[in-house]
Amino acid sequence: MKEVILIRYGEIFLKGKNYSFFENTLFKNIKRRFKGINLSLEKISGRFLVSNFSEQDKELIISKLKTVFGIVSISLAYEVETSLENISTVCETINITEPTFKVETKRADKTFNLKSYELSAKMGEIILKNNPNTKVDVHNPQQIIFIEVRQNLRTYIFYNKITCLGGMPVSTSGKAMLLLSGGIDSSVAGFLMAKRGLCLNAIHFYSFPYTSPQAKQKVIDLANIIKKYTGDIRLFVVPFTKIQEEIHKNCDSEYMVTLVRRFMMRIAEKVAIQNNCSALITGENLAQVASQTVESITVTNQMSKQLPIFRPLISFDKIEITNIAEKIGTYETSILPYEDCCSVFLPENPVTHPKIEKLEKNEALLEVNELINEAIKNIEIIDIKN
Ligand code: ATP
Ligand code: MG
Repeated sequence: MKEVILIRYGEIFLKGKNYSFFENTLFKNIKRRFKGINLSLEKISGRFLVSNFSEQDKELIISKLKTVFGIVSISLAYEVETSLENISTVCETINITEPTFKVETKRADKTFNLKSYELSAKMGEIILKNNPNTKVDVHNPQQIIFIEVRQNLRTYIFYNKITCLGGMPVSTSGKAMLLLSGGIDSSVAGFLMAKRGLCLNAIHFYSFPYTSPQAKQKVIDLANIIKKYTGDIRLFVVPFTKIQEEIHKNCDSEYMVTLVRRFMMRIAEKVAIQNNCSALITGENLAQVASQTVESITVTNQMSKQLPIFRPLISFDKIEITNIAEKIGTYETSILPYEDCCSVFLPENPVTHPKIEKLEKNEALLEVNELINEAIKNIEIIDIKN
């Protein structure tokens, strides 16, 4: 008998002609995560199987699988060559800690000479003999021992299912540009959209010297944390100082934030299109701050003319966002106290119901296209690699 790991993926997504695209992408994504670890990864009908790993790598392998979108659950299993004797040998080693259990058999190999319920009953007897303090309960067992007799003369026996992230394999939905700040929300937004199969680029607006190098480093650190789930991220760092200074010098102060956000959106869309991204992602959240009222979102939304803007957090409470941030490991970094460019020249009373005519009047005072082109020309690209 040898110990292996069974990987299950979301079969509902696998119907139809996209089956092999989905499956192959997931297979490649997993393989990439295992770089540098000695093991075998193979496809067995409807599942993947990890084997030939050393005991000391087992926990590392499991922890990596828990970060791969598209995997629904995994099980540590015993693999034996199919025979009553081999299956019995494994069942003799099983320890039941719960008061009740049952054995559940799936028999894909119909040449195996026991029917599913016969094998379950036989193995149940063996397990019971070695665990006299437990009982069989076929209706409501507290523990289930699964036996899968597969067609290739291999049988898998397992009794734990570890729930994984689910979702779609990264890059099966294409690529999107995440507007990444140093706050709590945007890295969570990126995580959630990668969960729906998007590969990520990220863009960060940076106002040196008003914001410190640590503020930029914080964003790089956040990207480094979420890449564990999303895979490699190309980060575009946009120098934003001049645009903010020009707005500050020339425009109505209560419109500062809205104008800034409209510039961000215009630049993000342009850079996204240049880099083959087909959507934008933000961590915006309805009513969180002045720039996230329906009216404010409307006037920034208008700046992305060709790409949809995904806002996966739009209806979340801060506590829900924080919970995810803690789970994925971004929270501690997010709350480090470095200023973001949005807080530079922040007016006392930012407008919550911006008027489009007023925005356009203000923007007419600026060299919008020149400012955008200059910012894009001076972008710094940082590759965040696994
Ligand atoms: P976060 O929303 O990440 O917690 P925040 O709350 O400081 O940061 P908001 O003012 O709520 O940011 O901005 C809303 C969204 O706009 C962010 O989630 C992010 O997608 C985008 N954004 C804000 N600031 C920046 C920035 N400096 N660079 C890139 N995107 C930004
Ligand atoms: Mg926010």
